[in-house]
Amino acid sequence: MSARPYHKRYHSDALAGFMSLTLEERGAYQTVLDLIYDRGGPIADNERLLAGYMGCSVRKWRALRDELIAKRKISVNEGGLITSDDFDDRLYGDDARKPLSRSTRQRIIERDGEICAYCARRADPLEIDHIHPFSRGGTDDDENLTVACRTCNQAKGALTLGEWSGSSVQ
Ligand SMILES: [Zn+2]
Repeated sequence: MSARPYHKRYHSDALAGFMSLTLEERGAYQTVLDLIYDRGGPIADNERLLAGYMGCSVRKWRALRDELIAKRKISVNEGGLITSDDFDDRLYGDDARKPLSRSTRQRIIERDGEICAYCARRADPLEIDHIHPFSRGGTDDDENLTVACRTCNQAKGALTLGEWSGSSVQ
C-alpha cells in the first residue's frame, strides 16, 4: 500500500494540460503521472516495466516518451529519472514514501536529541526530516537525516535548505 493513495486533481488544469496530446499520449502521460505520484518522486525509465503498465510495446512506449518529452509534459533529469513539471513535490515531500525504519529513527533521535534542527525548539511532534529532500534524490543515510518539529518539516516540504531559507522571511 502506498503512503498516499490519492491526491487532489484540478480538472480544469488537467484538461488544459492534456489539450495538445493525442489519445495515446494522454494514456501514457496519465500512467507516468500516476507512477510518479505513487512513488512520491521521479521514476526510473524502466522501459519494459513502463510498457507493461501501459499495455503497449517497448517500442511504442519509446515513441510516446519522446513525444511527451518534445511536448514538455515529462523530462528526464540528471539522474536519468523521468519527472513531470506538473508533479507538485511540495505536496509529496518526505512523508510520501516508506517510513524510515524504527532503528534509523531511533539512531537519529539519540544523535540529535528531541530538538528541532531548524527552530531549536523541542520537536513535538517529533519528525525526521530529509535535509536534501528524498523526492529530489536525497538518501536515507544518517548524514541526510535530522530531527525536526512538524511545523518546520511541513514548511520545508520538498525544498532544499537553500530554497527554504530563501523563501521564508524570518
Ligand atoms: Zn522546528
